[in-house]
Amino acid sequence: MSKNWRPATQLVHGGTTRSNHGETSEAIFLTQGFVYDSSEAAEARFKGETDGFIYARYGSPTNDMFEKRMCMLEGAEDARATASGMAAVASAILCKVKAGDHIVAARALFGSCRWVVETLAPKYGVEFTLVDGRDLANWEAAVRPNTKVFFLESPTNPTLEIVDIAGVAKIANAIGATVIVDNVFATPLFQKPLELGAHVVVYSATKHIDGQGRCLGGIVLSSKDWIDENLHDYFRHTGPALSPFNAWTLLKGVETLPLRVRQQTENAARLADFLAEQPQVAKVIYPGRKDHPQADIIARQMTGGSTLVCFELKGGKEAAFALQNALDVVVISNNLGDSKSLITHPATTTHKNLSDEARAELGISPGTVRFSAGIEDSADLIDDFAQALRSVKA
Ligand SMILES: *Cc1c(COP(=O)(O)O)cnc(C)c1O
Repeated sequence: MSKNWRPATQLVHGGTTRSNHGETSEAIFLTQGFVYDSSEAAEARFKGETDGFIYARYGSPTNDMFEKRMCMLEGAEDARATASGMAAVASAILCKVKAGDHIVAARALFGSCRWVVETLAPKYGVEFTLVDGRDLANWEAAVRPNTKVFFLESPTNPTLEIVDIAGVAKIANAIGATVIVDNVFATPLFQKPLELGAHVVVYSATKHIDGQGRCLGGIVLSSKDWIDENLHDYFRHTGPALSPFNAWTLLKGVETLPLRVRQQTENAARLADFLAEQPQVAKVIYPGRKDHPQADIIARQMTGGSTLVCFELKGGKEAAFALQNALDVVVISNNLGDSKSLITHPATTTHKNLSDEARAELGISPGTVRFSAGIEDSADLIDDFAQALRSVKA
């Protein structure tokens, strides 16, 4: 396998191993266990003296192909594929901390990620501080002698705020803490957290990696040492492993990741520019636009815009609901990264459990709408928004 392959080639060929049948497409190894030629072979496998699989909770051939392909793309040494994005996030954080440790996280997090930091971790004696992640001074000020983990996503959900990953990594490295980046919104194509100094990258593979709305999945990627020291035993003994069937679906999904993400990003960018001109729209937040408040950091750490657009309607909740209900091509769903364009109203769905105050802090108003671009023809999406906006008062 060539390390010099470009992403589109890595995503078709990376990590592929073939059985003795020489199949073209990756095989699905739906097996729980593995057999040994002899007692001595079993003993050697368990001692780690020979390579090979032991039990599907620990690892299995189809999952291994998916992990290796993702490692190649991400520039990571090792990875563990998980049953969902949340299994990846929870495993990456919980395998690292113990009672008495402290986590610093950006307050703008995917809802369940915020629950892990704010509600679950404290149950096990782990302290936390949530900060406005846009300002590095906040990360610096939150550091305590027992800080062990920094956790962030960038761009954030749903308001597409940016965190300076290299800046956070510098603060973390000074105290030997681990930086974990949830890179879902950027996709592995547009942002390389490990190159920016982060130590661990996590994905919900449910989103762009599957990209076609089929199965849940996740992955944790890092150095071999970090995984050996922190995640290896946790993963084996708590069992968040991905199903081999879903690993296969994700392997097929990533083959077309660059094609889909390119089309989605183009669609999102066109729609963002269209929306910015509409009288019903108060503001558009899109990482590919020059008017994004953090355009300078975006230019430094991302190589593409985003497949998501966040915008605010002047008419609040009533306008948001009217728009969503009038759309025809675009369907209402809280998911994202799908080949179908999806729209959601965060205040009443994904972020409904936050207090009004917490929502306001995140810039989520009653008129905020999040759009996830699919791979349709952009002209049809713009026509759809144009007709639907007629139902919305300016
Ligand atoms: C969807 C998502 C998750 C959770 O992933 P699941 O696969 O749904 O468990 C975590 N972080 C971000 C940013 C997400 O968008």
